[in-house]
Amino acid sequence: MKRRPAAWGGAAAALLALGSAAVLSGLAGQVLEARAVPTPAPAVVRRAGFAMGSFVQVVAAGPGAEAAADAALAEVQRLERLLDRFDPGSPVSAVNRLAGRGDVPVPPEVGEVVSLALEVARRTGGAFDPTVAPLVDLWGFGAASPRAARPSRPPPDEAVEAARRRVGWEGVRVVRGGGAVRVGLAREGMALDLGGIAQGYAADRAIAVLRAHGVSQGLVDVGGEVAVLGTRPAAPGEPAGQRWRVGIQHPRDPQRLVATVLLSDGAVATSGDYERYFEYQGRRFCHLIDPRTGRPATGLVSASVLHPSAAVADALATAVMVLGPRDGAALIRAWPGARAILVDGSLRVMGVTGP
Ligand code: AMP
Ligand code: MG
Repeated sequence: MKRRPAAWGGAAAALLALGSAAVLSGLAGQVLEARAVPTPAPAVVRRAGFAMGSFVQVVAAGPGAEAAADAALAEVQRLERLLDRFDPGSPVSAVNRLAGRGDVPVPPEVGEVVSLALEVARRTGGAFDPTVAPLVDLWGFGAASPRAARPSRPPPDEAVEAARRRVGWEGVRVVRGGGAVRVGLAREGMALDLGGIAQGYAADRAIAVLRAHGVSQGLVDVGGEVAVLGTRPAAPGEPAGQRWRVGIQHPRDPQRLVATVLLSDGAVATSGDYERYFEYQGRRFCHLIDPRTGRPATGLVSASVLHPSAAVADALATAVMVLGPRDGAALIRAWPGARAILVDGSLRVMGVTGP
């Protein structure tokens, strides 16, 4: 597997480790107790892999879990090949190559992610924008810019302005007809970057694969965007119906958690300023770009969003980071089914609940 850490959402890997630790501690207990108690616990299968620039973890329990977990992991890897803008063979690359010159037929999944991204873009006033690619690249956070080539200082204002003019979700066309989907970009120089939503979407799809295999308890973690199915498999002696536990990493201390989220049938996604950034004159410039200013988001250091859909949670976490504490919290308060844990610049932790 190729490792392309810069291509996808960043904050995730650290959360993954802690999320896994939290999940693992539950499972480890189960294994130990299973030795002592004759009643067999449901077989719990774990798979780990690498996709979308991050670690992927699948946990599944019960009959058929082995095949289900393999298929779920394969699904994430398949979606990476569809959605990676740095893979010249991906449909997203084909759309980007033809920017300003026409529409490209894409697989239904690509149409679905792009449509969802556009809906979040509209509902966040463009704070989330799947066409942010030119700005991401200018600031040195594209996959094509390895850490060594990353600018050590902000780009000049004129360059920011020029890149900003190439960004705008309203220039994305999704055309459906005759069972096919076509996607196009209105202007030359535009490009799709689905890095703020693809991991969550892949987690949702992998959960659907587990379900299709008859699995009723599972967890999928794609770079820290975590979706769960049902409840955590109970250890012998433990009451059934316990929720999964996912740790949210402290944004300035990887050894600590700011919160532990309890989930059944839902998802949590985290965006943070702490994984991909550079510092200049004492200020931190992170990989989450405010499309309205063309500059990295400020105000929040991390945002974790809970939502039934991991794709929506993923996109909202990015949007909330861009919007900052006040407008980000207002967005969550108005978004049905959403909840959030925000950490601001003074490392204050705030919980916010939607309607
Ligand atoms: P995440 O960690 O999920 O917040 O995703 C971060 C990735 O989303 C970045 O690496 C960019 O590829 C992309 N991105 C950055 N800023 C935005 C934005 N304002 N809207 C949508 N995607 C963004
Ligand atoms: Mg995101």
